[in-house]
Amino acid sequence: NNGLLAGKRGIIMGVANNRSIAWGIASKAAEQGAEIAFTYQGEALEKRVRPLAESIGSDIILPCDVTNDASIDAVFAELEKRWGKIDFLIHAIAYSDKSELTGRYVDTTADNFARSMNISCYSFTAIAQRAEKLMTEGGSMITLSYYGAEKVIPHYNVMGVAKAALEASVKYLARDLGPKNIRVNSISAGPIKTLAASGIGDFRYIMKWNELNSPLGRNVTIEEVGNSGLYLLSDLSSGVTGEIHHVDSGYNIMGMKREDAPDI
Ligand code: NAD
Repeated sequence: NNGLLAGKRGIIMGVANNRSIAWGIASKAAEQGAEIAFTYQGEALEKRVRPLAESIGSDIILPCDVTNDASIDAVFAELEKRWGKIDFLIHAIAYSDKSELTGRYVDTTADNFARSMNISCYSFTAIAQRAEKLMTEGGSMITLSYYGAEKVIPHYNVMGVAKAALEASVKYLARDLGPKNIRVNSISAGPIKTLAASGIGDFRYIMKWNELNSPLGRNVTIEEVGNSGLYLLSDLSSGVTGEIHHVDSGYNIMGMKREDAPDI
């Protein structure tokens, strides 16, 4: 295989089904010759993830709940046993209680704040700690963010605050791991209809708004996020770290709504 990722091995965390952004990246990476290990959160999702993983020839398919340290350790122990080293890591994991992804941010509870931060932000650092030890010849780590980290998006609330912290942690991780030639970047994806997104209040309105007001005049697909992921995973981006790369039809550059956009 002479693909962009030939000879590279990595782990992809956060596939829930074939609409997951993590799956968009996984399928593109497999096309380019990568060998991929997968994790799934809980038995219910195993039924979806296992066949997808097997369809691209993967045989390392492990449970992992990032709120449980022992389950993270078990994943990396298995990777060490099977492969010895890894070249890349995709973190596509986020969670907040649905009841707080609507209404006002100011009403966020301490419990949900801590849980959302832990799962959606800290887990990337927790995983990076383990992955660092296996990236003995350098590597590439990618997490997924959203524009709600930068600007206020209705209903995104505590998740926006968690994504802002996640984007800051990308930069701190990039600095810490740079001397080992481990690059750490984030893809800030435009809105895409996924399981996680369905928990966000009025998500259809957000999608429509982005479609009508982005420079490209449409939404992005998981395949497009996957293609941009290839660049960040591969040696094509060997000089790039600490970056927040927008794959959002250009929406983030707009200062106002498009003057030709109809009212919605
Ligand atoms: P998804 O529902 O397919 O994936 C979310 C994943 O998070 C699931 O696989 C779920 O199992 C996992 N997860 C949640 N809690 C977990 C835990 N405690 N332990 C382990 N895994 C856990 O949805 P998605 O939209 O593909 O989300 C992937 C990433 O992309 C998330 O970080 C999300 O915030 C981000 N993102 C999504 C969009 C969008 O519009 N869909 C836009 C930008 C960024």
